[in-house]
Amino acid sequence: MKSFYNKNYRLGILGGGQLGRMLIQEAINYDVRVAVLDPTPDAPCSAVSHEFVCGSFNDYQSVLDFGQRADVITIEIEHVNVEALLELEKAGKKVFPKPSFIQMVQDKGLQKKFYADHQIPTAPFHLINDKSELSDHMPTFPFVLKSRTGGYDGKGVMVIRNTDDLKLAFSGPCVVEEMVNIQKEIAVIVARNEQGEIAHFPLVEMEFNPEANLVEFLFSPASVPVEAEREAYQIAHKIVSESDFVGLLAVEMFLDHHGNVIVNEMAPRPHNSGHHTIEACATSQYGQLLRAITGMPLGNTELIRPAVMINLLGEKGYSGMAVYEGMNDALKIPGVFFHLYGKSETKPFRKMGHITVTSPNLEEAKSTARGLLQSVRVIA
Ligand code: ADP
Repeated sequence: MKSFYNKNYRLGILGGGQLGRMLIQEAINYDVRVAVLDPTPDAPCSAVSHEFVCGSFNDYQSVLDFGQRADVITIEIEHVNVEALLELEKAGKKVFPKPSFIQMVQDKGLQKKFYADHQIPTAPFHLINDKSELSDHMPTFPFVLKSRTGGYDGKGVMVIRNTDDLKLAFSGPCVVEEMVNIQKEIAVIVARNEQGEIAHFPLVEMEFNPEANLVEFLFSPASVPVEAEREAYQIAHKIVSESDFVGLLAVEMFLDHHGNVIVNEMAPRPHNSGHHTIEACATSQYGQLLRAITGMPLGNTELIRPAVMINLLGEKGYSGMAVYEGMNDALKIPGVFFHLYGKSETKPFRKMGHITVTSPNLEEAKSTARGLLQSVRVIA
């Protein structure tokens, strides 16, 4: 088996979006050659990978052919063809995260069963095959309905408050979940390598815009009681050790009004809640993923400076060639770092990039970030 210290060690990534792109930026430092499989010819990775294969990561044969030429295979999106990955693993290829774990995460029902089987705290739930089953034993209102497969960024999740809402319920297999009385939404990113070493990044908290009820920015360190923080790390460690996980795992959690930490869902790949680690931590989430899957020792995850991250979304009402407004003034502010994802076309709410603000003082970083939310726009 070739080690990453060898020249021409090859990493294959399924998915060519911004997460893959930032992983490539790290891989270059270790002289690891990166091949990417993505169906979009001008995907964010297309111009920066050593080899860009234009094809579907959902197609069995495409994934199999692509994987056979790599020394280690990873993902930057979880909706990939798992059968091909299982086949590659059987043939002795290193596939991290393991295909069986990806399979479990692809289905919110299997994820919930995993939490229940491992005594991981999660909102009480039951599974249904179709909404018609709701009438058999109607949960108490309000409750949350989640499509078992295919949802992302809140699509595929709805709150059912009354019988009228029931008419809009999703069809097909769903998770029916108790509504959590959320105090805060938090996330832990944790890594584990094949040797069994585990390291987590400091807790991240999401700040919501109270009017729009949308995530406005993410920040670290989180402002939660120390017991809750400790509990969050313990849960993340338990998940990766009990599943023999290898790679990088983002665990999204709720802190409820009683101070309980409850797992919402997880993603076995780099995550939006870890972008700030590039500038704010001793090792970035991308560097850590690379270390975890190539058998290197894990890096130091210490938070060097408090940080706030805002996503740069395409402005409502603008579609076409992207223009970044307000960048020049923003760049004059110390501790402001831009990451543009190389997407030429903007669309309303499309993730075009992100900005990280670091400062010795978290409140100051938040205040700068609030200003940038007003002054930086992606228009066409
Ligand atoms: P996605 O996989 O699309 O990101 P999530 O499962 O993360 O969907 O849900 C999206 C949002 O819905 C969460 O961030 C949270 O605000 C809310 N939510 C999800 N589950 C619950 C729940 N059981 N109780 C209350 N709010 C929830």
